[in-house]
Amino acid sequence: MSKIKERINLIERGLSNLKSTDNSVKIIAVSKKKSSKDIKEAFEAGISNFGENYLQEALGKINELKDLGISWHFVGKIQSNKCKEIAENFNWVHTIDRYKVASLLEKYCPKNKIIYGLIQVNIDDEDTKSGIAPEEVKTLLKELKSLKKIKIIGLMIIPAINELDEDAISPFARIKKLLLELQEENPNLKELSMGMSQDYEMAIKEGSTIVRLGESIFGKREKK
Ligand SMILES: *Cc1c(COP(=O)(O)O)cnc(C)c1O
Repeated sequence: MSKIKERINLIERGLSNLKSTDNSVKIIAVSKKKSSKDIKEAFEAGISNFGENYLQEALGKINELKDLGISWHFVGKIQSNKCKEIAENFNWVHTIDRYKVASLLEKYCPKNKIIYGLIQVNIDDEDTKSGIAPEEVKTLLKELKSLKKIKIIGLMIIPAINELDEDAISPFARIKKLLLELQEENPNLKELSMGMSQDYEMAIKEGSTIVRLGESIFGKREKK
């Protein structure tokens, strides 16, 4: 059995033992810096959702693997001038944090295609990170209601690494609370994209519905 398949089996076994939520949890294999060959191995082991951060890097792989029927998730920072190619090539966008980006995705979304969108929230109020402030999400959601092809169905966070302080309320719990508040006016908001290789089990216990796993599936990425 390949290493990738072994790791996926292990993760799935772990998930079925967690049983802490009623939610089913979707696994996104984040394949940045990994080859089409690795992606194909993960696909053959049962993964059908893949995430990429860098558009140029992703386009080659998406093209090479277009016959597989993969769902592609854009999880990187979005520049306005990339929206056309993102809309044409991805099925989900996790990192919407302003109206302009969403409206450009809508403008360039091909006919008869729907893109699922998540709003990236800057839960830890870090200046270096993208994402909208928690208190601004409500207003953004109102603005995004006019969009037809971009369906906003949840929130996404990348918590600060040093945040795992035992006593503090976890960023996962805080975003879950925000989701519940927003659901009153936005019943379609159901997904929480949170949890990466280091912390996905904790994220799932706090209500994650989508985990984004890179190294735990593909092995270590080389550092730049
Ligand atoms: C790289 C990346 C991941 C996966 O990280 P791992 O630690 O390898 O699991 C998840 N989400 C985003 C946004 C990423 O950039």
